[in-house]
Amino acid sequence: MSESVSVLISEEELERKIDQIAGQINRDYAGRQLHLLCILKGSMFFTCELSKHLTMPVTIDCMAVASYGNDTARSGDIALTLDLSEPIAGKHVLVIEDIVDTGYTLSFLRKMLQKRNPASLKICTLLDKPERREVPVDVDYVGFQIPNEFVVGFGLDYAQKYRNLPYIGMLEIEEGE
Ligand code: 5GP
Repeated sequence: MSESVSVLISEEELERKIDQIAGQINRDYAGRQLHLLCILKGSMFFTCELSKHLTMPVTIDCMAVASYGNDTARSGDIALTLDLSEPIAGKHVLVIEDIVDTGYTLSFLRKMLQKRNPASLKICTLLDKPERREVPVDVDYVGFQIPNEFVVGFGLDYAQKYRNLPYIGMLEIEEGE
């Protein structure tokens, strides 16, 4: 079996888009303190790059979720595997996600976080695969809509590999030698 990766979104395109999203967030949250929630591990790179462009006071916390559905019939069984280190009550919270696919993860997170009484709760994703959506989810900031391809890089993995690529690439796996 051989794996190959072709560039879908270049490093320069990512930089431009992140700068643009940060501009919108800076306008929307001007004069307020913003609490970023990085969803591990995929959104590590995006959270770091985005936060460097934000001009308001920013705090960052992390959480992780695991999905126990399978690829062909997503049951939507999502569980929290790492919780936040601090309460979010009264804070302006922005969830930073790497990619929205079926929508189950973000819909689970939104419901769970809303119960903790943040002052506001918005969602930002770098990538969106609208064709794959199974449950509706409101996303406030979207970087790129992409086709139904499996992507890696800039934090996204395949079997924990490729997260360190500076671009978003499409992964192809060929059977055989
Ligand atoms: P959803 O719950 O929206 O179906 O899935 C969201 C999660 O699935 C993402 O946070 C990510 O971990 C994973 N995912 C979905 N599509 C891709 C993809 O193309 N590449 C990688 N590496 N992960 C993906």
